[in-house]
Amino acid sequence: MAVIIDGKELARKIRENLKEEVDELKAKGMAPRLAVILVGDDSASKIYVKNKSKACEEIGIEFEEFILDENIQMDELKKLINNLNARKDISGILLQCPLPKHLDVNDALKTIIPEKDVDGFNPLNVGKLSLGQDTFVSCTPFGIVKILEEYNIPIQGKHVVILGRSNIVGKPLIQCMLQKNATVTVCHSKTENIEEYTKQADILIVAIGKPKFVKKDMVKPGATVIDVGINRGEDGKLCGDVDFEAVQDVASYITPVPGGVGPMTIAMLMNNIVKAAKEK
Ligand code: NAP
Repeated sequence: MAVIIDGKELARKIRENLKEEVDELKAKGMAPRLAVILVGDDSASKIYVKNKSKACEEIGIEFEEFILDENIQMDELKKLINNLNARKDISGILLQCPLPKHLDVNDALKTIIPEKDVDGFNPLNVGKLSLGQDTFVSCTPFGIVKILEEYNIPIQGKHVVILGRSNIVGKPLIQCMLQKNATVTVCHSKTENIEEYTKQADILIVAIGKPKFVKKDMVKPGATVIDVGINRGEDGKLCGDVDFEAVQDVASYITPVPGGVGPMTIAMLMNNIVKAAKEK
């Protein structure tokens, strides 16, 4: 039976340490402050923003929310971002995605200056990550690295197989794992015979958004399985991209959904906001 990774507890410890740093920064007059922009009223996005504001409040990071009409035009959105870029009291800016289809998400994300890009989505920060330079690492990949480190799961020399190549998870994860000297394989929707790759993984990281896609017979005995997916199963309950109940019998470590990668993503966002405030 696999060890079930407690992302919730790990995230709690990280937030506790960050709270001390936030107190020190406040004492020096360098209070961290996050600006969040939400366009439209997508219900999932609202929940994500609420969770982020709760985490900020808990550790003393100031939080300012900008809710924009879903019909807003690109020039108005960029005007707001530029105002926030210029404000000295704002340490980090987060644009909640997805955006309505008429808006150019890449243009919007690159408008956030790299120094305030706490999500690590500005192309300059993406480039820095791939060059191995100090930057804001996007929060989900960063959280996964922390999980592996905290549980002393070796990465160097290991075969890491990543399912999914999105800009926010799969792609930055490739760089994170290469920097840790893993051998990395990336699979996506066009990969043929995907189980041939998954079965080779010492560490299997799944971020595809397909409920319970990874079955027991796709996993090498003793592998570490990290499940990024957040889905609603047929029973209406939250589930990941991995068939948790079955796969926990063969894996050595496994993350649950909920309570695995999700809380770590938010903790690493808090980490990035504190980093931004310190480097201001
Ligand atoms: P995304 O942008 O939709 O990308 C999905 C990726 O999975 C794509 O690269 C796609 O391949 C690949 N894919 C889709 N079906 C596949 C299949 N059958 N076999 C192999 N690859 C397949 O998704 P995302 O934003 O990365 O999110 C992935 C999941 O993680 C979602 O459930 C999301 O809710 C969750 N998520 C969780 C957190 C967290 O904090 N826990 C954070 C972010 C995302 P192509 O490139 O070929 O289309």
